[in-house]
Amino acid sequence: MITRACISINNRCNLNCTYCHFHTPEKAVCLSEAEMNVYTILDNIKSHIDKYDIETFKLGFVGNGEPLLDYGSLRGYIEYISDYLLADRIAAYTITNGTLINKEMLDYFKKHKVNVGFSIDGMAEIHNKLRCNTHSKVMNAIELYHAVNACYPSMNCTVGRDVLDKAEDTIAFFKQFGNRITFSRMIGKYGICLDEFHSFLDRAKSRVNVRIGKYDCTMYGGMCGAGINNIFYANGNIYLCGNCVDLPPIAKADTPIDRIKPDIPMFDRSTCFKETQCL
Ligand code: SF4
Ligand code: SF4
Repeated sequence: MITRACISINNRCNLNCTYCHFHTPEKAVCLSEAEMNVYTILDNIKSHIDKYDIETFKLGFVGNGEPLLDYGSLRGYIEYISDYLLADRIAAYTITNGTLINKEMLDYFKKHKVNVGFSIDGMAEIHNKLRCNTHSKVMNAIELYHAVNACYPSMNCTVGRDVLDKAEDTIAFFKQFGNRITFSRMIGKYGICLDEFHSFLDRAKSRVNVRIGKYDCTMYGGMCGAGINNIFYANGNIYLCGNCVDLPPIAKADTPIDRIKPDIPMFDRSTCFKETQCL
């Protein structure tokens, strides 16, 4: 049963991070700015929730770009599901690179119960090297979030070679916030292997509140959830996950959710399905 979805509301970003795996030449050919009616998707999600009496459907406005570049559209989508959000039938979130957010946006997200996560790769030295010298800007945005919400936001840190080399310092950086951290394994050209990532997670788990899903994604330290309960909307199509946009889509974006039947072979879910297809 599908109980989670992510919608990539755009395919563009104002940064050009060194390790970005969304904007590689291979994926670029799959990600044109094809028309996608997000309101139809939201209608399908609401019908699915009602039909199957789903207690809470998890919905991420996250994908191949920076969602706040299209803040006006995002507001429209949030408004459209606002009764489901306020009733906790939809738990929505977005993740930003933190360079565009302002107080008006933070107030709006708070009012509509939309969780906002920030991408930050720990200390300035590493973050600036990989994420376009944006550390102080992102930290200012995180402090603004704190002022609005009286707590620190969830944060996402991509774990690559630089973080592994400064593992203790990186963990200490996140410990100061007392919040939940999602560490994700760097993949692609500069990627690290699963064993290295898991050793880092084991160290981090004893010191900070680390998010680890079960059948979710090996990139976050869980098992691969491809084809189980989660789908990814982008570019007018539905994919197994955000990393699978260069594999064939599993349906068109306007397909009613209970008609989506991903047909994927058995595989070891401690590994990444996408990587098994690219060997
Ligand atoms: S902010 Fe995210 S989408 Fe944008 S370039 Fe960096 S990693 Fe890629
Ligand atoms: S296919 Fe890979 S990237 Fe996609 S959900 Fe599975 S582990 Fe994660």
